[in-house]
Amino acid sequence: MNAPLYAALVLAARTVPVLPLRAGKVPFGNCPTCRGNACGGRPNMKTPGPCRCTRICHAWAAATTDPAVLASAAWAGPWREAQALAYHPGGAELTVVDLDNADAVSWARDALPATRTVATTRGEHWIYQGAMQSANAVRPGVDIKSRMSYARWLGPGSGAMTCLPTAVRALVEREETTPARGEVVSSSGRTEWDRSVATGCRHTERFVRTGLERGLALVRARPESGAGSQAFGVAQFLAAQHTACPGPCGLEELGWQVVAAAVSVGVPEPYARRAVTNGLNGTPAPGRAS
Ligand SMILES: [Zn+2]
Ligand SMILES: [Zn+2]
Ligand SMILES: [Zn+2]
Repeated sequence: MNAPLYAALVLAARTVPVLPLRAGKVPFGNCPTCRGNACGGRPNMKTPGPCRCTRICHAWAAATTDPAVLASAAWAGPWREAQALAYHPGGAELTVVDLDNADAVSWARDALPATRTVATTRGEHWIYQGAMQSANAVRPGVDIKSRMSYARWLGPGSGAMTCLPTAVRALVEREETTPARGEVVSSSGRTEWDRSVATGCRHTERFVRTGLERGLALVRARPESGAGSQAFGVAQFLAAQHTACPGPCGLEELGWQVVAAAVSVGVPEPYARRAVTNGLNGTPAPGRAS
């Protein structure tokens, strides 16, 4: 078996989504059907699309943990030509701080908590546990690779992996397009669930949306009395659908929509929030709203 494919299957078995890279260490191009995103793109992309192409199209979005896809005939050609292996850090709940050169590495040694590091051609990858938004050039020679991004697999590296620190999140905060999660649920601008926040979800978009819509309908059908505990039940049900997913599944976004539905039928917001948080976390049912 070809070496990158073998390494890919080993990583995939550890729930790390992987894909081959061609010469130049970049993803393979799209097939004719997907060229120029004519297919609409894949369901897990930022703008979700209907593409079910079995070939290695759409760069990071093709990364998978499915051994049947990795070893499929459609991927055999790319594996033969592969020059490197890449993985999708966000899909494995990881963030790679890509330090391009010695200056960037010495900056990281001063500014960031130690974690697992992997040597690269001219610099290092610092790998943290936890996913976040990706961003290029957050500082000279520093890229953040996590959600909707790929990073080269250069071996397991060394050192203990630590949790994604605030210092790394702060590097891209100013680029966040969505407002910080604040106090008011019903305000506009709240992110609704879509495929882009569920990069580690095993379910189809339709499955998740059907579950959500049913739950919201149950909450809305219970004006005031009972809607709070219904929200708890719905949140618990939604969380249970994803216990076997590697995550992230966008549960937080699903939860906000349940809170908003409960608030819309008169449940006090703090109570609705608590009920949904407890439901998502699988904590015991709360008492009735006072
Ligand atoms: Zn395609
Ligand atoms: Zn496509
Ligand atoms: Zn899921």
